[in-house]
Amino acid sequence: MDDLASFLSISLNLTDTKSTVNSFQGSSSQTNPNLPAPNIFIIAKLHSNKSYSKKHFRETMTKDWNKLCHFLVVITKRPPNLLLVAFGCDGDRRRIMIQQPWIYQNNAILIDIPNSLDVLNGNSLHSIPLWVQVHNTPFFKRSEELVALISLRLRPMLEVDKLSFKETWGSYLRIKIMFNVSQPIHQGIPIEFQSINKVVWLTLKHENLPNICFFCGRMGHSYNDGYFNYLKTCDESPTPPYLCYEKTSRVKF
Ligand SMILES: [Zn+2]
Repeated sequence: MDDLASFLSISLNLTDTKSTVNSFQGSSSQTNPNLPAPNIFIIAKLHSNKSYSKKHFRETMTKDWNKLCHFLVVITKRPPNLLLVAFGCDGDRRRIMIQQPWIYQNNAILIDIPNSLDVLNGNSLHSIPLWVQVHNTPFFKRSEELVALISLRLRPMLEVDKLSFKETWGSYLRIKIMFNVSQPIHQGIPIEFQSINKVVWLTLKHENLPNICFFCGRMGHSYNDGYFNYLKTCDESPTPPYLCYEKTSRVKF
């Protein structure tokens, strides 16, 4: 550590205050009974390039999450555009995590549990859990093996609704995935069913899907809202570009 401080000081010509590395042993446990128990936090961020009222967003989520929790939920602002949410117990936090995806004004709310090793800058907020319905499966072919095959494309898979293996339960297989919002949403998967010698396009429908861009299939912006790639393609083409995600299937409850 001394070598590092010396190197930094020489290389960057730092003052004593800047170059001295201080060691932090950690803090003593919180004792104020009016504050939430320590370490029961999440950070959250609205995934949108549109302007919105930060105050209304914070008030809405405080109200919604307080309805579900046993103890008072306290939400404070943290730059840049982050919410730090403090819970009174781990069970309350689990309730909010399990009930994802959370949506505000049709935009996805990205949530993560902060790590004490990281600075809170929102860099870990890039995914959202989504329930996906897999339609068009051949009769009696829903199985763990089929899910394993699908999971090669839809990764990481979090959960399978095992009741949906039964043909009598409904017309689709139901899986939960952790979806990276930097990627376009999945529209379907071709699977070759060797036992019936047929390639079948399995159509995917997303439950409670936030708004997506019809041009590129990603969340966080709309195709005609100053989206550079769409506008550039418009400029370069005599006709408006094809919006291949416009008819994307979604299911709302
Ligand atoms: Zn787009």
